Amino acid sequence: MSDAPSRDAPSRSTLFRDVLVYRADAPGHAVGPTHVRVTGNRIAAIGADIGRAPAGSVAEPAATGPSAPGAGADRVVEGHGHHLLVPGLINAHFHSPANHLKGDLPSMPLELFMLFETPAGVPRPSPRAAYLRTMLAALEMLRTGTTAVQDDAFFLPAPDPEIIDAVLAAYADCGIRAAVALDQPELPEAAKLPFLADLAPAGIRADVLAPGPRSRAELLELYGHLFDAWHGAAGGRLTAAVSISAPQRVSVEYFAALDDLSARHGVPLYAHMLETRAQRVLATAQPRFAGRSLVQYTAGLGLLTARTNVIHAVWTDDADLDAIAAAGSVVVHNPVSNLRLGSGVMPLRAMLDRGIPVALGVDEAICNDAADMWNVVRTAGLIHNITGLDSERWPRPAEVLDALWAGGAAAMLRSDELGRVEPGYLADLTLLDLHAPAFTPRTDLAGQLVYCESGGSVALTMVDGVVVAEHGAVTSVDEAALLAEARELFAAERPALLAHRSAAGRLYPTYQRMVRQAAGVDVGMTRWAGNL
Ligand SMILES: [Zn+2]
Repeated sequence: MSDAPSRDAPSRSTLFRDVLVYRADAPGHAVGPTHVRVTGNRIAAIGADIGRAPAGSVAEPAATGPSAPGAGADRVVEGHGHHLLVPGLINAHFHSPANHLKGDLPSMPLELFMLFETPAGVPRPSPRAAYLRTMLAALEMLRTGTTAVQDDAFFLPAPDPEIIDAVLAAYADCGIRAAVALDQPELPEAAKLPFLADLAPAGIRADVLAPGPRSRAELLELYGHLFDAWHGAAGGRLTAAVSISAPQRVSVEYFAALDDLSARHGVPLYAHMLETRAQRVLATAQPRFAGRSLVQYTAGLGLLTARTNVIHAVWTDDADLDAIAAAGSVVVHNPVSNLRLGSGVMPLRAMLDRGIPVALGVDEAICNDAADMWNVVRTAGLIHNITGLDSERWPRPAEVLDALWAGGAAAMLRSDELGRVEPGYLADLTLLDLHAPAFTPRTDLAGQLVYCESGGSVALTMVDGVVVAEHGAVTSVDEAALLAEARELFAAERPALLAHRSAAGRLYPTYQRMVRQAAGVDVGMTRWAGNL
């Protein structure tokens, strides 16, 4: 276990007084004004009379006034009848190592984008750089009300314990809830992508055939470090997860070993599947898939489970969705990333029709260009409207919010304690000022949460019972100093990054041929609007 800061073992109590409380099934999606008491890291009680007298589920310290709500609480947060308490937002899919690269690359298909996002030859970051870049997005998430993140962290050129510790230390210090996995493929590039082995000229052949920098055994040893050092750290706020990155990027043996690790610890397994059209083409382009999609291949291995986070699932067909529904897996939808990289539009309605839980994620700061969840929520609420004229098939705001909270909690395998403002649930809470522009005047609360809010209404963010951001600033760390240090450090590193990107350009023509060849293969579906 790490040395958890003392603030991560809260015994304090907070009373949110005179607040509205988001409730998915209530008329108007809110109840109140009422009071919400947090004791330690859990929501202890909700009700108009709590704080006035000892209540069943609340250990009430001596009251300081005869009948003042909040008497005895360490902290009272006034809601004035116009602040709304919602569950903390859940970013169900994220890669923190690209946090310092927002807006940095032109839009390209994933297969080309990754060449420049993670160019070969980039040196190992210093632990401080890894810490700061992790912190960059964590601060943005906390400011805007995101309280939990599933970080599918990749490590270039390879993971090591010191850098893993730096990433987790940033999450420990800032106070966000994080579930971190090591997104580290072991197979060569040529195995991950269609046609590449045949297309690669002599000059780059060695590059595309080289195995990953760490063997399966070495990667599993690093997972040992991740679990030993961090799983359950900071009072349970930090957890480990596992990641195969994607089925085509790992051996069956490594996939099975990680699934076993996931099962033994009861943690999610992160797996990108069918994000792009080229990934759909793998079914016929590589013998090991024997004509099966990556979802069917995974199901055939017995490795599609209720612990699997199926990330993206854009190029899934009906049979894939039937398999995902049968397995009880959760799909993580990253609509902004899918637009930025031209991946296509995920078949959301077909998933909801099957009862598949859908969560929402940023994916990456470099292909979302923000780390706040409100832009993801808004895009999820809008993008599916281009799939046809039948507006009854378009997502309703309440469905998008259900994906954000219930879906996010399901992705984390923590539906019983995250994603709701209910007694007994973890106190991951976001307070929104409904006098802010997004909600003035009040019309339809769910509609305003989805279509109007951009993070500007967030008045306070609490994670695990601890206030970590308030009035637009993070309070758990010295935000200004960290941002200043990050600006200086990443500016100094930028010339080297640009040089590595320039060198990666030699791979571009081959990869472009691969993408175009894949585009010419009939996959029996489209996920693009096309012909506009
Ligand atoms: Zn991703």
